[in-house]
Amino acid sequence: MKKRAASDPRKRKGLTIVHTGDGKGKSTAAFGLALRAAGNKMKVFILQFMKGQWKAGERKMFSQMEPMVEFEAMGDGFTWDTNNPEQDRQTASKAWEIVKPKILSGDYPVVILDEINYVLNYRFLDEDEVLDTLRNKPESVHVICTGRNAPPALIELADLVTEMKCVKHPFKEQKIPAQKGIEF
Ligand code: ATP
Ligand code: MG
Repeated sequence: MKKRAASDPRKRKGLTIVHTGDGKGKSTAAFGLALRAAGNKMKVFILQFMKGQWKAGERKMFSQMEPMVEFEAMGDGFTWDTNNPEQDRQTASKAWEIVKPKILSGDYPVVILDEINYVLNYRFLDEDEVLDTLRNKPESVHVICTGRNAPPALIELADLVTEMKCVKHPFKEQKIPAQKGIEF
């Protein structure tokens, strides 16, 4: 029988993690990792590329977890305007300029780029720039990228990719709108 390669108990590596797919749970799984990391005294930086939900429970909770968790939402005072792609690009690059140095500094063992797949798909951010940063991040830093339709090159680069598959969703089958504690 073929011998399985032994795992090295000392091996450590900051991972590039991708949560994608059309099922619910991509962002919440990332926030679960934030909780887990912060509980281990690992600082977490979260950047939400989509319009920030002011009322979102996670945001209220993360603000109570400062300074273990820092949270920035791009949508503050702004909504994506698909009629003005130039403005969307500027907004996305402003967000990127905030988070890139956080990734490269090594000060945050966990960085969450929530919905970055969305902005990459819409070409609001340069894919090569993002991938280069992930390739050159400090060895110890874990980065989690969420959003539907993760670009193939990001999937290729990542160490851990999970695709959430929608089996049922209360909105799809029953037209139940977003509910507190579940969606926000
Ligand atoms: P969550 O933040 O709850 O983990 P998500 O990050 O996987 O969700 P997004 O693509 O960010 O999903 O969409 C966010 C919102 O869309 C959530 O309110 C979620 O319930 C809803 N949603 C996710 N998947 C579906 C689906 N297949 N059909 C309808 N609504 C969905
Ligand atoms: Mg999400």
